[in-house]
Amino acid sequence: MSQNQIQLLLKYQEEDEKILRIENEVNNSEQRKNYMKARAFLKAAPEKLDAMDARALELAKLLEKLVAEQQDIAETLTDFENIDELVEDGGDISFYKKNLSQLTEKLKKIKSELNNLTKSAKDADEEFQAFKKKTISIQKQYEEYKNAYQEYRAKRQKEAEAVREELEKLSADISEKAMNGYQTKRSERIFPVICAALQDRCSKCGMSLSIAGKEALARGDIIECENCHRYLFKG
Ligand SMILES: [Zn+2]
Repeated sequence: MSQNQIQLLLKYQEEDEKILRIENEVNNSEQRKNYMKARAFLKAAPEKLDAMDARALELAKLLEKLVAEQQDIAETLTDFENIDELVEDGGDISFYKKNLSQLTEKLKKIKSELNNLTKSAKDADEEFQAFKKKTISIQKQYEEYKNAYQEYRAKRQKEAEAVREELEKLSADISEKAMNGYQTKRSERIFPVICAALQDRCSKCGMSLSIAGKEALARGDIIECENCHRYLFKG
């Protein structure tokens, strides 16, 4: 490949880099981030709302169970109001006392569990309300973000189009073989496609050149780096 062709290819590559920069800027733009974030949130929202619903149901069931247990114990305790009669009928007072204290303990435990559960249910409900509010607000924002992103992307795509037109002009002076080789590597996401060999090494990845490679470069040819597969020219 002639020095002139190498220079033209480098110029083409320099222009081509603008396309990559535009694509990068679009991908990293606030507009895209906002849009993607809102989209991901809304996509995950139904599942999260379902999970919250299931949790609320679970808490309600637990609450119901504890209230029933509490009632049971309270009813049993009323039997102890007649403890004097029971003892008179020949009952063992220590047995009743033990039973009574066990039931009182159990009732205390249930009351504390009920307090905790009531708090959990309240927290869960607050979380659910907050999430619902957020979902509604993001639903409203979503269209706005989507439009802003599409508008921004269209504007940048126009810029990229102008660059592509320039590339088209530049490619007219580059041999078909060189151009095809460049485009193949470019489509493999190798960039830069062509770079200098400096001090017998690839200037991009640092790989040493083979003897045959050095000889080819000395003849003015372009070689391929054995490691990163970029085209190398004598720098
Ligand atoms: Zn390399």
